[in-house]
Amino acid sequence: MNEASEKVFLSMVIPMFNEEANIEELYSRLTKVLDRMQKPYEVICVNDGSRDNTLEMLRDLNKKDNRFKVIDLSRNFGKETALSAGIDFTCGEIVIPIDADLQDPPELIPEMITKWEEGYDVVYAVRTHREGETWFKKMTAAMFYKTMKKITHLNMPVNTGDFRLMSRQAVDALKELRESHRFMKGLFTWVGYRQTGITYSRDPRFAGKTKWNYYKLWNLALEAITSFSYLPLQWSMYLGLGVAFLSFIYGFYMIINTVIHGNKVPGYPSLMVVILFLGGVQLFTIGIIGQYIGRIYTESKHRPLYFVRETLGLNYGNDYQQSPL
Ligand code: UDP
Ligand code: MG
Repeated sequence: MNEASEKVFLSMVIPMFNEEANIEELYSRLTKVLDRMQKPYEVICVNDGSRDNTLEMLRDLNKKDNRFKVIDLSRNFGKETALSAGIDFTCGEIVIPIDADLQDPPELIPEMITKWEEGYDVVYAVRTHREGETWFKKMTAAMFYKTMKKITHLNMPVNTGDFRLMSRQAVDALKELRESHRFMKGLFTWVGYRQTGITYSRDPRFAGKTKWNYYKLWNLALEAITSFSYLPLQWSMYLGLGVAFLSFIYGFYMIINTVIHGNKVPGYPSLMVVILFLGGVQLFTIGIIGQYIGRIYTESKHRPLYFVRETLGLNYGNDYQQSPL
């Protein structure tokens, strides 16, 4: 535990991947808001295998202001894991993850804390506008939330990111979930407790580029669905049943037709259509089953979520190798 462990009120967690251009602005905007709170806080910056100057800048930051602590992961693990690593190291009474690119305005934090004081365990920030994002991204995001709501039993709040306040109780619950396929927004919701939202309009990135492309977003959506629902497996079963039923009717029709009219045409086209269709349906359903089996495979290995190369300001020693759990 770090020196001021009992006293820390708020822990911020910031996953960072090539964010050198944002660090200074982030520091000034964040400290401005947090200092006003007049309570002890810590900011845990997780360097997620950046290939630019992020780590060096974080080192300097930690020297200048030791409330800014650093976790350097052994490689790039992706945002969800970097965030989990940061959360594992927090000791504050409340924890707030935030993006490094200032798309989540730190100015919202006091409002979140007010809600927490009212007795909520999780206060998530709901985006009303998404500046600087294409209509295509907005549309696909909307479709994603709709699908998720329909096919999982999870009532995930629409248009929320990872920017949210969590009480110590909710964080400790979250830390128990060690699955390697991590869809954080789903996990945040899954732990339950008293949750509420506040609204804000999402700003464009301050500097740098988003690390998400549509391929990654598609994978994230797959992750979300397969982590929280086995409905696609049920669908593929019904699809198989439906197709089998149709084939049965068609076969019956063929038999009657042959009996009545004899077999005048060899029936090559209908045969091809049926074979191709059945083949397609089979591959599709095997694909769905494969998605789940692949996930069972990775989960069954029980690998640690991440490795830490070095920490600064967190009293775990620089030879620290494992997660605090
Ligand atoms: N991020 C990370 N590891 C990654 C990709 C992103 O830690 O592999 C961090 C990134 O530095 C930022 C946050 O996750 O602080 C959100 O990333 P980004 O802005 O690219 O996502 P978007 O806002 O477009 O959802
Ligand atoms: Mg962003």
